[in-house]
Amino acid sequence: MTARIIDGKAIAARVRAQVAEDVRAFVEQTGRVPGLATVLVGDDPGSAVYVSGKQRACAEAGMQSFDHRLPADTSFEDLAGLLASLNADPEVSGVLLQLPVPDHLDGAVLTGMIDPDKDVDGLTPVNAGRLSLGLPGLRPCTPMGVLELLADVGVSLTGAEAVVVGRSNLFGKPMAQLLLGENATVTVCHSRTRDLAAVCARAEILIVAIGRPRMVTREFVKPGAVVIDVGVNRLTPEQAGNSSGLVGDVDFDAVADIAGAITPVPGGVGPMTIACLLVNTLQAARLQAARRQAEIEA
Ligand code: NAP
Repeated sequence: MTARIIDGKAIAARVRAQVAEDVRAFVEQTGRVPGLATVLVGDDPGSAVYVSGKQRACAEAGMQSFDHRLPADTSFEDLAGLLASLNADPEVSGVLLQLPVPDHLDGAVLTGMIDPDKDVDGLTPVNAGRLSLGLPGLRPCTPMGVLELLADVGVSLTGAEAVVVGRSNLFGKPMAQLLLGENATVTVCHSRTRDLAAVCARAEILIVAIGRPRMVTREFVKPGAVVIDVGVNRLTPEQAGNSSGLVGDVDFDAVADIAGAITPVPGGVGPMTIACLLVNTLQAARLQAARRQAEIEA
Protein backbone atom coordinates (compact mmCIF):
# COMPACT_ATOMS: atom_id res chain seq x y z
CA MET A 1 0.00 0.00 0.00
CA THR A 2 1.43 3.41 -0.94
CA ALA A 3 -1.42 5.83 -0.30
CA ARG A 4 -1.46 7.98 2.80
CA ILE A 5 -4.52 7.02 4.85
CA ILE A 6 -6.43 10.17 5.77
CA ASP A 7 -7.36 9.78 9.43
CA GLY A 8 -10.79 11.42 9.63
CA LYS A 9 -11.20 10.41 13.28
CA ALA A 10 -8.07 12.27 14.36
CA ILE A 11 -8.84 15.34 12.23
CA ALA A 12 -12.42 15.41 13.54
CA ALA A 13 -11.15 15.17 17.13
CA ARG A 14 -9.00 18.27 16.53
CA VAL A 15 -11.96 20.18 15.05
CA ARG A 16 -14.15 19.17 17.99
CA ALA A 17 -11.54 20.24 20.54
CA GLN A 18 -11.30 23.63 18.81
CA VAL A 19 -15.11 24.01 18.84
CA ALA A 20 -15.17 23.21 22.59
CA GLU A 21 -12.60 25.94 23.19
CA ASP A 22 -14.52 28.43 21.03
CA VAL A 23 -17.78 27.54 22.83
CA ARG A 24 -16.16 28.37 26.20
CA ALA A 25 -15.10 31.77 24.84
CA PHE A 26 -18.59 32.38 23.36
CA VAL A 27 -20.31 31.57 26.67
CA GLU A 28 -17.94 33.87 28.54
CA GLN A 29 -18.59 36.67 26.07
CA THR A 30 -22.36 36.39 25.67
CA GLY A 31 -23.57 34.51 28.77
CA ARG A 32 -25.46 32.16 26.43
CA VAL A 33 -24.84 28.47 25.77
CA PRO A 34 -25.28 27.42 22.11
CA GLY A 35 -27.96 24.74 21.69
CA LEU A 36 -28.86 22.24 18.98
CA ALA A 37 -32.42 20.95 18.57
CA THR A 38 -32.73 17.63 16.76
CA VAL A 39 -36.04 16.42 15.36
CA LEU A 40 -36.47 12.73 14.59
CA VAL A 41 -39.74 11.40 13.18
CA GLY A 42 -40.37 7.65 13.38
CA ASP A 43 -38.26 4.87 14.83
CA ASP A 44 -35.66 4.07 12.19
CA PRO A 45 -32.84 2.58 14.32
CA GLY A 46 -30.06 3.96 12.04
CA SER A 47 -31.41 7.52 12.29
CA ALA A 48 -31.81 7.15 16.07
CA VAL A 49 -28.12 6.20 16.36
CA TYR A 50 -27.10 9.24 14.23
CA VAL A 51 -29.22 11.62 16.33
CA SER A 52 -27.88 10.26 19.62
CA GLY A 53 -24.32 10.65 18.30
CA LYS A 54 -25.01 14.28 17.40
CA GLN A 55 -26.40 14.99 20.87
CA ARG A 56 -23.46 13.35 22.62
CA ALA A 57 -21.04 15.37 20.53
CA CYS A 58 -22.89 18.59 21.47
CA ALA A 59 -22.63 17.81 25.16
CA GLU A 60 -18.89 17.06 24.81
CA ALA A 61 -18.38 20.43 23.14
CA GLY A 62 -20.18 22.23 26.00
CA MET A 63 -23.38 22.89 24.05
CA GLN A 64 -26.99 22.14 24.99
CA SER A 65 -29.09 19.74 23.00
CA PHE A 66 -32.85 19.44 22.75
CA ASP A 67 -34.12 16.05 21.65
CA HIS A 68 -37.50 15.90 19.87
CA ARG A 69 -38.63 12.38 18.93
CA LEU A 70 -42.02 12.13 17.28
CA PRO A 71 -44.12 9.12 16.26
CA ALA A 72 -43.99 7.98 12.61
CA ASP A 73 -47.59 9.12 12.01
CA THR A 74 -46.92 12.75 13.06
CA SER A 75 -48.86 15.13 10.80
CA PHE A 76 -47.25 17.75 8.57
CA GLU A 77 -49.04 20.48 10.55
CA ASP A 78 -47.70 19.25 13.90
CA LEU A 79 -44.16 19.04 12.56
CA ALA A 80 -44.40 22.47 10.93
CA GLY A 81 -45.64 23.83 14.29
CA LEU A 82 -42.67 22.31 16.14
CA LEU A 83 -40.20 23.78 13.62
CA ALA A 84 -41.82 27.21 13.99
CA SER A 85 -41.52 27.03 17.78
CA LEU A 86 -37.84 26.00 17.54
CA ASN A 87 -37.22 28.88 15.12
CA ALA A 88 -38.68 31.25 17.73
CA ASP A 89 -36.91 29.74 20.78
CA PRO A 90 -33.94 31.89 21.86
CA GLU A 91 -32.33 28.88 23.61
CA VAL A 92 -32.12 27.02 20.29
CA SER A 93 -29.22 28.08 18.03
CA GLY A 94 -29.50 25.29 15.48
CA VAL A 95 -32.34 23.09 14.20
CA LEU A 96 -31.76 19.77 12.51
CA LEU A 97 -34.54 17.71 10.96
CA GLN A 98 -33.16 14.19 10.58
CA LEU A 99 -33.79 12.91 7.04
CA PRO A 100 -35.36 10.89 5.62
CA VAL A 101 -38.79 11.56 7.13
CA PRO A 102 -41.69 9.07 6.68
CA ASP A 103 -43.27 8.95 3.19
CA HIS A 104 -46.39 10.99 4.03
CA LEU A 105 -44.17 13.99 4.86
CA ASP A 106 -42.12 16.10 2.43
CA GLY A 107 -38.60 16.42 3.88
CA ALA A 108 -37.57 19.17 1.45
CA VAL A 109 -40.60 21.35 2.23
CA LEU A 110 -40.16 20.87 5.99
CA THR A 111 -36.42 21.57 5.81
CA GLY A 112 -37.26 24.79 3.97
CA MET A 113 -39.26 25.94 7.01
CA ILE A 114 -36.17 26.08 9.21
CA ASP A 115 -34.87 29.61 9.87
CA PRO A 116 -31.85 29.89 7.52
CA ASP A 117 -29.74 31.26 10.39
CA LYS A 118 -30.55 28.10 12.42
CA ASP A 119 -30.14 25.74 9.45
CA VAL A 120 -27.10 23.82 10.74
CA ASP A 121 -27.39 21.24 7.94
CA GLY A 122 -27.12 24.03 5.36
CA LEU A 123 -29.92 22.46 3.32
CA THR A 124 -32.57 25.20 3.15
CA PRO A 125 -33.09 26.82 -0.27
CA VAL A 126 -31.78 30.10 1.20
CA ASN A 127 -28.46 28.57 2.26
CA ALA A 128 -28.15 26.53 -0.95
CA GLY A 129 -28.66 29.81 -2.85
CA ARG A 130 -26.13 31.66 -0.72
CA LEU A 131 -23.57 28.91 -1.40
CA SER A 132 -24.14 28.97 -5.13
CA LEU A 133 -23.87 32.79 -5.18
CA GLY A 134 -20.69 32.69 -3.08
CA LEU A 135 -22.38 34.54 -0.20
CA PRO A 136 -21.73 33.77 3.48
CA GLY A 137 -24.09 31.21 5.01
CA LEU A 138 -24.27 27.87 6.80
CA ARG A 139 -22.82 25.12 4.59
CA PRO A 140 -23.80 21.41 4.48
CA CYS A 141 -21.71 19.47 7.01
CA THR A 142 -20.38 16.56 4.95
CA PRO A 143 -18.95 18.64 2.07
CA MET A 144 -17.52 21.06 4.65
CA GLY A 145 -15.85 18.10 6.32
CA VAL A 146 -14.36 16.95 3.02
CA LEU A 147 -12.80 20.40 2.50
CA GLU A 148 -11.21 20.07 5.96
CA LEU A 149 -9.79 16.67 5.03
CA LEU A 150 -8.34 18.08 1.79
CA ALA A 151 -6.80 20.96 3.75
CA ASP A 152 -5.21 18.44 6.09
CA VAL A 153 -3.72 16.51 3.18
CA GLY A 154 -2.26 19.83 2.03
CA VAL A 155 -3.46 19.48 -1.55
CA SER A 156 -3.72 22.76 -3.42
CA LEU A 157 -7.23 23.19 -4.82
CA THR A 158 -6.55 26.19 -7.03
CA GLY A 159 -6.64 25.00 -10.63
CA ALA A 160 -6.78 21.35 -9.54
CA GLU A 161 -8.84 18.89 -11.59
CA ALA A 162 -11.56 17.69 -9.19
CA VAL A 163 -14.23 15.12 -10.04
CA VAL A 164 -17.29 14.67 -7.80
CA VAL A 165 -19.32 11.51 -8.45
CA GLY A 166 -22.92 12.02 -7.26
CA ARG A 167 -25.14 15.10 -7.66
CA SER A 168 -27.43 14.97 -4.63
CA ASN A 169 -28.60 18.18 -2.95
CA LEU A 170 -27.23 16.78 0.31
CA PHE A 171 -23.69 16.21 -0.90
CA GLY A 172 -22.67 16.27 -4.58
CA LYS A 173 -24.00 19.70 -5.56
CA PRO A 174 -22.78 21.59 -2.48
CA MET A 175 -19.42 19.77 -2.69
CA ALA A 176 -19.00 20.97 -6.28
CA GLN A 177 -19.90 24.53 -5.24
CA LEU A 178 -17.43 24.54 -2.36
CA LEU A 179 -14.66 23.26 -4.65
CA LEU A 180 -15.50 25.95 -7.22
CA GLY A 181 -15.25 28.48 -4.42
CA GLU A 182 -11.71 27.20 -3.84
CA ASN A 183 -10.91 27.67 -7.55
CA ALA A 184 -10.77 23.98 -8.47
CA THR A 185 -11.79 22.88 -11.97
CA VAL A 186 -14.84 20.77 -11.15
CA THR A 187 -16.61 17.99 -13.04
CA VAL A 188 -19.79 16.49 -11.56
CA CYS A 189 -20.71 12.93 -12.60
CA HIS A 190 -23.91 10.94 -12.06
CA SER A 191 -25.71 7.81 -13.18
CA ARG A 192 -25.97 9.03 -16.82
CA THR A 193 -22.32 10.00 -17.18
CA ARG A 194 -20.72 8.25 -20.16
CA ASP A 195 -17.46 6.39 -19.54
CA LEU A 196 -17.38 7.23 -15.84
CA ALA A 197 -14.06 5.48 -15.21
CA ALA A 198 -12.28 7.60 -17.85
CA VAL A 199 -13.71 10.86 -16.48
CA CYS A 200 -12.71 9.89 -12.93
CA ALA A 201 -9.22 8.91 -14.08
CA ARG A 202 -8.58 12.57 -15.02
CA ALA A 203 -9.03 13.67 -11.41
CA GLU A 204 -6.28 14.86 -9.13
CA ILE A 205 -9.00 14.91 -6.47
CA LEU A 206 -11.70 12.24 -6.76
CA ILE A 207 -14.70 12.49 -4.42
CA VAL A 208 -17.25 9.69 -4.58
CA ALA A 209 -20.77 9.78 -3.05
CA ILE A 210 -23.03 7.33 -4.86
CA GLY A 211 -24.07 4.64 -2.37
CA ARG A 212 -22.73 1.68 -4.43
CA PRO A 213 -20.46 -0.63 -2.42
CA ARG A 214 -16.87 -0.67 -3.75
CA MET A 215 -17.90 0.42 -7.25
CA VAL A 216 -14.86 2.62 -7.81
CA THR A 217 -11.93 0.39 -8.71
CA ARG A 218 -8.33 0.92 -9.84
CA GLU A 219 -9.15 2.01 -13.37
CA PHE A 220 -11.10 5.01 -12.02
CA VAL A 221 -8.04 6.41 -10.26
CA LYS A 222 -5.15 8.47 -11.61
CA PRO A 223 -1.88 7.47 -9.93
CA GLY A 224 -1.20 9.77 -6.99
CA ALA A 225 -4.77 11.16 -6.83
CA VAL A 226 -6.43 12.10 -3.53
CA VAL A 227 -9.49 9.85 -3.17
CA ILE A 228 -12.30 10.81 -0.79
CA ASP A 229 -14.89 8.09 -0.21
CA VAL A 230 -18.16 9.49 1.13
CA GLY A 231 -20.20 6.32 0.63
CA VAL A 232 -21.49 4.33 3.57
CA ASN A 233 -22.88 0.93 2.59
CA ARG A 234 -23.89 -1.83 4.95
CA LEU A 235 -23.06 -5.34 3.73
CA THR A 236 -25.15 -8.39 4.60
CA PRO A 237 -23.54 -10.65 7.27
CA GLU A 238 -22.61 -13.14 4.52
CA GLN A 239 -20.89 -10.43 2.46
CA ALA A 240 -19.20 -8.89 5.50
CA GLY A 241 -17.45 -12.00 6.81
CA ASN A 242 -15.15 -10.83 9.61
CA SER A 243 -15.28 -7.14 8.72
CA SER A 244 -17.40 -4.42 10.36
CA GLY A 245 -19.92 -4.72 7.51
CA LEU A 246 -19.55 -1.05 6.54
CA VAL A 247 -17.86 -0.28 3.23
CA GLY A 248 -17.51 2.77 1.07
CA ASP A 249 -18.13 3.37 -2.63
CA VAL A 250 -14.42 2.85 -3.33
CA ASP A 251 -12.71 -0.54 -3.43
CA PHE A 252 -10.21 0.52 -0.79
CA ASP A 253 -7.80 -2.42 -1.10
CA ALA A 254 -7.60 -2.13 -4.89
CA VAL A 255 -7.15 1.65 -4.91
CA ALA A 256 -4.86 2.17 -1.90
CA ASP A 257 -1.69 1.22 -3.77
CA ILE A 258 -2.30 3.62 -6.65
CA ALA A 259 -3.84 6.68 -4.91
CA GLY A 260 -1.67 9.31 -3.24
CA ALA A 261 -4.03 9.60 -0.28
CA ILE A 262 -7.35 7.95 0.56
CA THR A 263 -10.05 8.03 3.24
CA PRO A 264 -11.05 4.73 4.89
CA VAL A 265 -14.66 3.70 5.62
CA PRO A 266 -15.38 3.83 8.49
CA GLY A 267 -13.10 6.47 10.01
CA GLY A 268 -12.74 8.88 7.07
CA VAL A 269 -15.51 11.30 6.09
CA GLY A 270 -18.11 10.12 8.65
CA PRO A 271 -16.51 11.61 11.79
CA MET A 272 -16.06 14.95 9.98
CA THR A 273 -19.79 15.33 9.41
CA ILE A 274 -20.55 15.51 13.14
CA ALA A 275 -17.52 17.72 13.80
CA CYS A 276 -18.77 20.20 11.17
CA LEU A 277 -22.27 20.08 12.64
CA LEU A 278 -20.74 21.41 15.87
CA VAL A 279 -18.88 24.12 13.93
CA ASN A 280 -22.20 25.12 12.33
CA THR A 281 -24.11 25.12 15.63
CA LEU A 282 -21.61 27.55 17.12
CA GLN A 283 -21.70 29.61 13.91
CA ALA A 284 -25.51 29.71 14.14
CA ALA A 285 -25.28 30.88 17.77
CA ARG A 286 -22.97 33.69 16.61
CA LEU A 287 -25.42 34.69 13.85
CA GLN A 288 -28.20 34.97 16.41
CA ALA A 289 -26.04 36.91 18.84
CA ALA A 290 -25.29 39.36 15.99
CA ARG A 291 -29.02 39.56 15.17
CA ARG A 292 -29.90 40.35 18.80
CA GLN A 293 -27.19 43.00 18.90
CA ALA A 294 -28.51 44.58 15.68
CA GLU A 295 -32.05 44.64 17.15
CA ILE A 296 -30.76 46.37 20.30
CA GLU A 297 -28.93 48.97 18.23
CA ALA A 298 -31.88 49.57 15.86
P1 NAP B 1 -28.20 9.93 -3.28
O1 NAP B 1 -29.10 11.09 -2.99
O2 NAP B 1 -28.79 8.57 -3.46
O3 NAP B 1 -27.39 10.32 -4.60
C1 NAP B 1 -26.56 9.39 -5.22
C2 NAP B 1 -25.92 10.01 -6.42
O4 NAP B 1 -25.05 9.03 -7.00
C3 NAP B 1 -26.91 10.44 -7.50
O5 NAP B 1 -26.53 11.69 -8.04
C4 NAP B 1 -26.80 9.33 -8.56
O6 NAP B 1 -26.98 9.78 -9.88
C5 NAP B 1 -25.35 8.91 -8.39
N1 NAP B 1 -25.15 7.51 -8.80
C6 NAP B 1 -25.83 6.43 -8.38
N2 NAP B 1 -25.38 5.32 -9.00
C7 NAP B 1 -24.40 5.73 -9.83
C8 NAP B 1 -23.57 5.06 -10.77
N3 NAP B 1 -23.65 3.74 -10.94
N4 NAP B 1 -22.68 5.79 -11.46
C9 NAP B 1 -22.59 7.12 -11.29
N5 NAP B 1 -23.35 7.82 -10.41
C10 NAP B 1 -24.25 7.12 -9.71
O7 NAP B 1 -27.08 9.76 -2.19
P2 NAP B 1 -26.33 10.82 -1.21
O8 NAP B 1 -27.26 11.24 -0.15
O9 NAP B 1 -25.59 11.84 -1.99
O10 NAP B 1 -25.28 9.81 -0.55
C11 NAP B 1 -24.34 9.09 -1.31
C12 NAP B 1 -23.55 8.16 -0.41
O11 NAP B 1 -22.86 8.95 0.55
C13 NAP B 1 -24.42 7.19 0.41
O12 NAP B 1 -23.69 5.98 0.58
C14 NAP B 1 -24.57 7.90 1.74
O13 NAP B 1 -24.79 6.98 2.81
C15 NAP B 1 -23.22 8.54 1.86
N6 NAP B 1 -23.20 9.74 2.74
C16 NAP B 1 -22.35 9.72 3.80
C17 NAP B 1 -22.29 10.82 4.65
C18 NAP B 1 -21.34 10.80 5.79
O14 NAP B 1 -21.48 11.58 6.71
N7 NAP B 1 -20.32 9.95 5.76
C19 NAP B 1 -23.10 11.92 4.41
C20 NAP B 1 -23.94 11.93 3.29
C21 NAP B 1 -23.98 10.83 2.45
P3 NAP B 1 -28.40 10.33 -10.42
O15 NAP B 1 -28.52 11.72 -9.86
O16 NAP B 1 -28.23 10.32 -11.90
O17 NAP B 1 -29.45 9.41 -9.90
